Amino acid sequence: MQTFDHFIGGEFSAPDSGRYLDNVEPATGADYSRVAAGNAADVGRAVAAARAAFPAWSRTAAAERSRLLNAIAQLVEDDLEAFARAESTDNGKPIALARSVDIPRAVANLRFFASAVTHFGSEAHVTDHQALNYTLRRPRGVVGLISPWNLPLYLLTWKIAPALAVGNTAVAKPSELTPATATMLARACVGAGLPPGVLNIVHGLGAETGGPLTEHPDVRTISFTGGTVTGRHIARVTAPAFKKVALEMGGKNPNVIFADADLDRAIGESVRGAFTNQGQICLCGSRILVERPLYDEFLERFVAAANALEPGDPLEESTAQGAVVSSAHRDKILGYIDLAREEGGRILAGGGPPDGLPERCRDGFFVRPTVIAGLAMDCRVNREEIFGPVATVSPFDGEEEAVRLANASRYGLAATIWTRDVGRAHRVADRIDCGTVWVNCWLLRDLRVPFGGMKESGIGREGGNEALRFFTEAKNVCVRVPDADAPEDTR
Ligand code: NDP
Repeated sequence: MQTFDHFIGGEFSAPDSGRYLDNVEPATGADYSRVAAGNAADVGRAVAAARAAFPAWSRTAAAERSRLLNAIAQLVEDDLEAFARAESTDNGKPIALARSVDIPRAVANLRFFASAVTHFGSEAHVTDHQALNYTLRRPRGVVGLISPWNLPLYLLTWKIAPALAVGNTAVAKPSELTPATATMLARACVGAGLPPGVLNIVHGLGAETGGPLTEHPDVRTISFTGGTVTGRHIARVTAPAFKKVALEMGGKNPNVIFADADLDRAIGESVRGAFTNQGQICLCGSRILVERPLYDEFLERFVAAANALEPGDPLEESTAQGAVVSSAHRDKILGYIDLAREEGGRILAGGGPPDGLPERCRDGFFVRPTVIAGLAMDCRVNREEIFGPVATVSPFDGEEEAVRLANASRYGLAATIWTRDVGRAHRVADRIDCGTVWVNCWLLRDLRVPFGGMKESGIGREGGNEALRFFTEAKNVCVRVPDADAPEDTR
């Protein structure tokens, strides 16, 4: 059985407590590995290693930091197949998805910020011929990076790459449900020659490992991606210490389809937007709003497409729907489907576990893509994040109602709009309260754009210069420029 240990000071090490957690393969429901159960002592060792590495790393030339990040990216890419297999086994996602999205995107994150830091400038302001202001952007020290299980390496590298690129050292805590590729990344760091202590990875439960990391007095910067409940807790714990915190949290994203939309495209992308990664992407469009003239036809075709998506063994090439991450998460999703029935919803597709799984997957955690109609926008199923393969479909009349329903959420992460009317696309995009709006597409990502949420979906933005600014401290230097005509003693 594989063991995933901590990575501290450039070496793999056992947990202080000697305790390990069982790690389950979601597709089979069986333990397949064990992961270090970290605690405050492990976090303390990791922070000390990161502190020790900071002076040299922060003074290392940006070009050299860039070279090392590129070298790590290359090692991940060289081993893409093994990374994809590990991600699929650990998380339950289809191997084809891990191979085409998760691991290539992790490589792209590393390369993007390796390049971005070599282009990163700071501002200068000339003040009426009296002074020159220039802004220094210095790394902040030891940063804490906490990431979830749904896109394990993809989201972990999205934080590690900018943090390290600008000269911070880091202690990262992946979700204890998906520790495999983080451990493989640590090996790539050793292979690439990253100095010991620059990146440290501590595994373990949120409260026992993530908690001490966010509370550690030497960790003044926290970047967190995960659920809103955890994010609220982190905000509460870090506020009294005035830490710099970025929170990327949950979503209940509206997918708004106007009657003039390209229906074929809208249906295809809505299926992808609702069910990719078993609906376990914070950006999934789980509330589908359809303008009434199109409603019946959309619903019929969307339900047929959802029914055609049969879950299967994630390690099979042809599988498009894998397992959800854990038995607890499967039960939560099924609980919401039961709640939808109680709230008066009609289950038009899915609604439970699939039949006909291969023998290997008999005890795995699977839920069929589920489509629900007939629910009011203020019921719990339409308000709470389910984070599974469950989409609701509701009709609306006209632009005003579309905007009102889209905004009827405490979340504000992303929205999708389908229309051929350019003016309407811009108007509605402007009026939906969220951090990202896709028009006639979904999950089309450019790593340079600001990424994050409004309302209870987040504080702060990741991506491009936003991330480089977040992981640096701005210090302005104001230099008076003496007037050449002034007498010598007043210059
Ligand atoms: P959680 O909030 O449960 O966990 C996220 C991370 O935080 C995990 O590593 C977790 O560890 C850790 N954690 C838990 N408790 C604490 C604590 N007290 N202090 C510090 N760290 C802690 O989220 P999930 O892993 O369940 O991920 C799903 C959520 O992530 C969804 O809500 C989804 O919307 C959101 N998400 C948001 C994204 C965005 O960009 N906005 C992108 C992807 C997902 P452990 O696993 O051990 O509990």
